Amino acid sequence: MDYDVVVVGAGHNALISSAYLAKAGYKVGVFERRDIVGGAVSTKELVPGYQFDLGGSAHILIRLTPIIDELHLSEFGLEYLELDPLFFAPFPDGDSIFIHRDVDKTAHELDLKFPGEGEAYKRFIDDWQPFAESVREMFLMSPSPLNIGRKMVGNKTRLHWKESLRSIFRPYGDVVDDYFKEEKLKSLLVWMAAQSGPPPTEPITGPFVLWQALYHVGGMARPRGGSGILTQALKRCIEHHGGEVHTSAPVEEILVDGTRATGVRVNGQIYTGRAVLAGAHILETFGRLIGSEHRPKGLDKVRVGNGFGAILRLALDKPITYTAHPGKEARVALQLICRDRLQLNKAYGEYLAGEPASDPPIVAMTFSAVDDTLAPPGGEVLWLWGQYYPYELAKGTWKEREEAVAERLLDTFEQYAPGTKASVVGQLFQHPEWLERELGLFRGNVMHLEMSIDQMFMMRPMMGMAEYKTHLKGLYLTGASTHPGGGIMGASGRNAAHVLLKDLDRKRV
Ligand SMILES: Cc1cc2nc3c(=O)[nH]c(=O)nc-3n(C[C@H](O)[C@H](O)[C@H](O)COP(=O)(O)OP(=O)(O)OC[C@H]3O[C@@H](n4cnc5c(N)ncnc54)[C@H](O)[C@@H]3O)c2cc1C
Repeated sequence: MDYDVVVVGAGHNALISSAYLAKAGYKVGVFERRDIVGGAVSTKELVPGYQFDLGGSAHILIRLTPIIDELHLSEFGLEYLELDPLFFAPFPDGDSIFIHRDVDKTAHELDLKFPGEGEAYKRFIDDWQPFAESVREMFLMSPSPLNIGRKMVGNKTRLHWKESLRSIFRPYGDVVDDYFKEEKLKSLLVWMAAQSGPPPTEPITGPFVLWQALYHVGGMARPRGGSGILTQALKRCIEHHGGEVHTSAPVEEILVDGTRATGVRVNGQIYTGRAVLAGAHILETFGRLIGSEHRPKGLDKVRVGNGFGAILRLALDKPITYTAHPGKEARVALQLICRDRLQLNKAYGEYLAGEPASDPPIVAMTFSAVDDTLAPPGGEVLWLWGQYYPYELAKGTWKEREEAVAERLLDTFEQYAPGTKASVVGQLFQHPEWLERELGLFRGNVMHLEMSIDQMFMMRPMMGMAEYKTHLKGLYLTGASTHPGGGIMGASGRNAAHVLLKDLDRKRV
């Protein structure tokens, strides 16, 4: 036996599982297709002197977990830089809103601009914090019906249950109407909630906006040096505990003997293990790496969707300046650029018709405001994430249309920060087809599978496979295809490690 556990893919979830397993004394071998670790959490110098994140950038969810401390990642090179203010929203009429880590400070500023809205914001946060906390706890455990049931029953929102259920079951785009009058504030909250993918009009998505309370709890941060420093630190942690991480090592096949997974074939060579942990997309694991006779029923029903976002990465020779707020604090925050909910709904309508948004809402990020290692002195890195962008286009191909679509995104941003276009010295446009080709994100879905209620908790990736185990003995799953889904959180990696450790300790595998 080469390893106790053979791991497919080095996304952050698989690396987190591997680090827990290695730390517990098990021999782990990780095999990653690409030449660097991290998958959708990696960073490369694509323009000389400029560090480009290739996937997720804002570290929010992982800050709500104990992972960084439990794995002592600060000893392996991870240093988090706190971002406060958390959010900044500029508007075409020159108005702007800040959401600070501190709720009272946020409420005070809101009340000065929009009397009554600060008080309403505090009420919103107070009402929903307990609910958001129970969802967080559910994310940090295996989603067995028992675990989920206990948390649901134990959940104590400060609202009457009928009122709570009504908000939870409603589309998140409507929930804000119960608390706020000001469309600018509503659009900020709804645009942030839209980051998981489902549109603001989809029923049973209330929790996406009710989660807002937790931004004030965990805050937002950036690894100094780029998002990929997290996965580099994980790699060092695994190696420190005796594990091996192989890059440019594509798994060609997961080997199955009868009904038991026994190892992997990589570049023609066989590596065996007591268990195999697959951290790749579920369609890669079962659709490509395992013989069709072992494919689970229902794999073809898993909903991957039609992409939803695209991101333009820009290297600039000077910092951006917002007309609505020229100060540096705007560049520190996540910049939520959405005039109103109508703009978001219109973009979604175009997407349904197979067209890239003509007037996309944008999340702009300028982490060089807090980290001077990302760009040369005086320079800036600017990421513009827009929605919605279909993987399958109604007209033409991405190759034919990418240049014009990227320019449209930048032109939209230019209205808020004039002069940006003239300072561009390099760029990369990651549209849904690029994300599939380069990062293995099927149909460009950065969450692997759609984050809709029919594919969450015990239904992710499918019934019977949600607790990180599969129908094949010895084959375990982790990653965004599993509970609790996409985003830089690592909860799936930690949960899967707990399940696997139990089985390894009891010699069940
Ligand atoms: C452009 C973009 C922006 C995003 N922004 C944010 C953000 O700001 N904040 C946030 O929280 N989240 C964000 N996300 C989402 C988040 O980054 C992802 O959901 C998450 O990183 C997925 O991690 P994972 O470990 O589940 O899987 P992945 O990162 O998908 O890792 C899977 C790994 O498996 C490897 N692999 C696949 N097949 C094989 C094979 N046959 N052999 C070997 N290796 C294989 C892949 O190369 C990859 O490294 C963003 C994602 C993208 C792409």
